[in-house]
Amino acid sequence: MGYLARQLAGRTDPAPDAGWEEAPERKGFFTDTSICIGCKACEVACKEWNALPLDGLGLSGNSYDNTGGLGASTWRHVAFVEQSKDRILEARASGRRLVDLGMPQVGAPSPAPSPSATPSLPPAPEGHGPDLRDLLAAANGAGTEETAYPGGGEVTAAEVSAMGAPLPDFRWLMASDVCKHCTHAGCLDVCPTGALFRSEHGTVVVQADVCNGCGYCVGACPFGVIERRTDSAVSVRADGHVPDVGVAQKCTLCYDRLTDGQTPACAQTCPTTSIRFGTREEMVALARARVAQLHEQGFTEARLYGANDDDGVGGTGSVFLLLDEPEVYGLPPDPVVPTARLAEMFRTAGIAGLGLLGAAAVAFLGRRP
Ligand code: SF4
Ligand code: SF4
Repeated sequence: MGYLARQLAGRTDPAPDAGWEEAPERKGFFTDTSICIGCKACEVACKEWNALPLDGLGLSGNSYDNTGGLGASTWRHVAFVEQSKDRILEARASGRRLVDLGMPQVGAPSPAPSPSATPSLPPAPEGHGPDLRDLLAAANGAGTEETAYPGGGEVTAAEVSAMGAPLPDFRWLMASDVCKHCTHAGCLDVCPTGALFRSEHGTVVVQADVCNGCGYCVGACPFGVIERRTDSAVSVRADGHVPDVGVAQKCTLCYDRLTDGQTPACAQTCPTTSIRFGTREEMVALARARVAQLHEQGFTEARLYGANDDDGVGGTGSVFLLLDEPEVYGLPPDPVVPTARLAEMFRTAGIAGLGLLGAAAVAFLGRRP
C-alpha cells in the first residue's frame, strides 16, 4: 500500500507515516467503564489543566448528567447512561448478564449478597483496577469494610455489591468519553490550514492560533467530538473574556504534559484507575485482559471499542471497555472516516472527466467539414 493510501485507510503507524522520525511509541488511553464511579474528577481535572471556560452551571431536568456531552469547552465528558426497565428487559431477553454500576450512595450500605452468590473469579490484570475477588469478599463479609484500589482511593462494600447483586428496575452506567485520537482522523484529513496535526505520540492536536474557524473538521469527525467554541461559554476570568471563540477545540491528550513526560490530567486524577494512559499497545492488551476477565465472570456484555485496527477509522488511540452496545453510550457502532474512499473518488472523477473530454473531442471533430 502506498504512502498516500496508508494516510487515508488501512493499517498504519500514524506518527512515522506523518513524517516523524524516531517517533516514540504511540500513546493512548484505556477507559474502563466497568470501574467508573461517575465522580467526574476527570472532567474537572481536564478543565483545570487546560483552562477551559465553564459551559454554565445547570441541570438538564431529566438526567443526573449536568454537562451533556463533549464540546469545545468539555474535552472529557462523563456520560451517565440511565436505563429504565424496558431497556433492561430487552437486554435480558438476549440472554446476556447485565452489569449495574449503581449510583454512589449516601447512608447505610445495601445488604450484601450471600457468600454462595459470589462467583469464582480469576485474578485482575496486574496493576489495573480493583481485584474483584477482594471486593466481593469484602461485600460478603463486613458490610462497611473498605478496600483500597491499587491506584489509590477506596471502594466500599456497598459499591461492590452493586456488581454482584440482582439488577434493580433502573440501572446506571457511567463512561468517561474523550477524543478518540483516530488512526485515520477525519478532522485532520480535511483541515485546510494545518491547524490540526499528528503529534509525535500519534495523537491529534489542534493549534488554536492557526485555526481559521472554517468548521470542516466538525463535519468530518465520525464521533461528533470536535466543535467550534461560541461565546456562550462562561469564562472563569473576572473580565468575562472567553478565549478562542469561533475556533475548533478538542482534547489534545494533554500534549503539553506528554512533551514533559507527564501523564494526562484526567488519567492522573481518576481515583479508580478507570482511565489508564500508556502506549497504545499496552492499553489494548490491558483492555483485552479486562474483557476476558469480565467474560469469565459471566458479564458477557463487556466489549472493546476502538481496539480493532481494521475498523473504519483504523482503530483509535483511545480504547474503551463498554458494558453495553456502543449506541447505548451515544457512540457510533461502526465509525468510518469520511476520507477513506477519497482516492477511489478521485479516480472515478478522473475517469469520468476523461470520458467527457473524449466525448467533446469526438463531437468537435465530427462537426468539421
Ligand atoms: S475523534 Fe474526531 S476529533 Fe478526535 S481525532 Fe477522531 S476525527 Fe478527530
Ligand atoms: S473515569 Fe475516573 S475520574 Fe472520571 S468519573 Fe469515572 S471514576 Fe471518576
